Amino acid sequence: MIVAERKEMPDLEAMLEPYSKIAIVGCKGCVTVCSAGGRKEVDLLSAQIKLARREKGRDIEIKEITLERQCDPEYVATLKGQIDGAEAVLSMACGAGVQFVAEHYATIPILPALNTRFIGVAEASGEWGERCQACGACKLHLTGGVCPIARCSKSLLNGPCGGSMNGKCEINSNVPCGWQLIVDRLTALNMLDQYEKIAEINDWSTNRDGGPRHLTREDLK
Ligand code: SF4
Ligand code: SF4
Repeated sequence: MIVAERKEMPDLEAMLEPYSKIAIVGCKGCVTVCSAGGRKEVDLLSAQIKLARREKGRDIEIKEITLERQCDPEYVATLKGQIDGAEAVLSMACGAGVQFVAEHYATIPILPALNTRFIGVAEASGEWGERCQACGACKLHLTGGVCPIARCSKSLLNGPCGGSMNGKCEINSNVPCGWQLIVDRLTALNMLDQYEKIAEINDWSTNRDGGPRHLTREDLK
């Protein structure tokens, strides 16, 4: 899932300062799963904004809406009519959702309520960890299912940097060394021969740094 967290109230209050009639739009996808922008969080944020405004002696009218997904035109289209009259929309989706709603509603500001953090997993209650950087060239079959790009602090593709100590990364002693995890996993799988193979240099020009990426599936058109 995409993991996000809500911006701090002072930042949100500053963002909403010019407006007195807004819609808060949540998303039932990833941000519901990571408890940042689902229906419950929309209701909570709405109540907090109203309270903050009341304390300043200024009222604000808020409409609460939660879409199935803000990254899908079918659901984004349903906002039409619902956000009429709102001076701004505060989106509680990830950055993709915020931008996609903005692309569909050109004459109303679409503001981000969240900071989008990473693609990750729920490690425990209230704990999320990064697992994937969407590099576009998955190598998990070669590395025992541990991503060297997301899990190694230097995104090294061919073994550790040499700074690993007691299984921890030299960048941060609280973080497991990604390459230690890879070697441990390959050992457990009896696949350490993979470790001897040299991974080809990633073509970042097409995989990540060549501008916004796009995917076409002719079979689904
Ligand atoms: S808009 Fe973002 S948070 Fe919502 S479902 Fe799509 S990717 Fe996930
Ligand atoms: S110590 Fe391990 S995780 Fe940290 S940068 Fe070096 S190889 Fe990567």
